[in-house]
Amino acid sequence: MFATEKLYERDSHLRDFTARVLDCREADNGWAVVLDRTAFFPEGGGQEGDRGTLGEAGVLDTQLREGELLHLTDRPVEPGETVAGSLDWDLRFRRMQDHSGEHIVSGLVYQKYGYHNVGFHLGDGEVTLDFSGELNAQQLEEIELLANRAVTADLPVRTWYPSPKALKRIAYRSKLDLTENVRLVRIPGIDTCACCAPHVKRTGEIGVIKILDFMRHRGGVRVNILCGMDALEDYGARYRATKELSGLLSAKQLETPEAVRRLLGDLEKTKYALSQERLRSALEKAEALAHTEGNICLFFPELDMRALRELVNAGMEKCTGVCAAFTGRDGDWKFIIGSRHVDLKQAAKALLAGIKGRGGGSPEMLQGSAAGSRAEIEAWFGTFGNEKGSA
Ligand SMILES: [Zn+2]
Repeated sequence: MFATEKLYERDSHLRDFTARVLDCREADNGWAVVLDRTAFFPEGGGQEGDRGTLGEAGVLDTQLREGELLHLTDRPVEPGETVAGSLDWDLRFRRMQDHSGEHIVSGLVYQKYGYHNVGFHLGDGEVTLDFSGELNAQQLEEIELLANRAVTADLPVRTWYPSPKALKRIAYRSKLDLTENVRLVRIPGIDTCACCAPHVKRTGEIGVIKILDFMRHRGGVRVNILCGMDALEDYGARYRATKELSGLLSAKQLETPEAVRRLLGDLEKTKYALSQERLRSALEKAEALAHTEGNICLFFPELDMRALRELVNAGMEKCTGVCAAFTGRDGDWKFIIGSRHVDLKQAAKALLAGIKGRGGGSPEMLQGSAAGSRAEIEAWFGTFGNEKGSA
């Protein structure tokens, strides 16, 4: 097992460095490289592992496994040689902005409400924090304001390893009950927290802290935040979407919700007018029906249940059997069956079996769904009642 000096702990802004290769072995989908020193941060404390290059090799991930700091590369490097390491700095800096921003939000929530951060995940373009107690929108708005004041105050961020004795006198947030080798990250007046990850040097580097959404989660609340460049990118994407909506709706960008509300209102009215029109035409057809000895069976692909009922009400007066009306399509019909002469409660079992249906109702009316085809159903109603003489 090889030990690696963690250059990122001394200087979180170190992007390029040289190191000696101590070991290189095959690993899943590539190689695992151990260096004598590194600026690559291995996944930990909710933050993902760094990416970048080691000489010609690409570093796809950095992981700590059984105490060893492994650079997972796409090709091997020669043990004994000196390699130039280079971080994907844009990615790392974004993660530091998000992570330091998370400490500020968590520190403020702890200070004001005493809630602990019980879960933290920092993915690409997504940061979630779980708190042990509930917060509402107004409280989070206030936290966001205070967090951004801490950013503009450009406070120094200090990271250090206190001695076990000194550690006992320091109040800090921690998920683990460690007493040795505890690294603390302090943002004065805001937060002191045990954390292994690299952070910005001053809070001004975070740029902005935006709380996006929150939801209840395991007796507390899960909060989504974005900081710095990730927040800027998100702002850009949302701006473009709002601008497009504004163009489509011919409304000012900030008035798009009202414009959509109006549009939905219009849509409801149009739907209602259309259903009235369909009902009218269905009733016309029912009026035009001749008096029938036997059953009436009608199909309308696009009729709502209210119209279907009106249709059946009219149709059952015009036949000596049952009036059945179907809407939908083959294999997926909704139906209403009515009758003045047949007890539908008694006939239900036979009727439902005949049309591959499910449903129920009263002696006068039966309602449900049917899986038969139109041809099957029509053929069946052509014979229903004849052999029993129930009409
Ligand atoms: Zn942390």
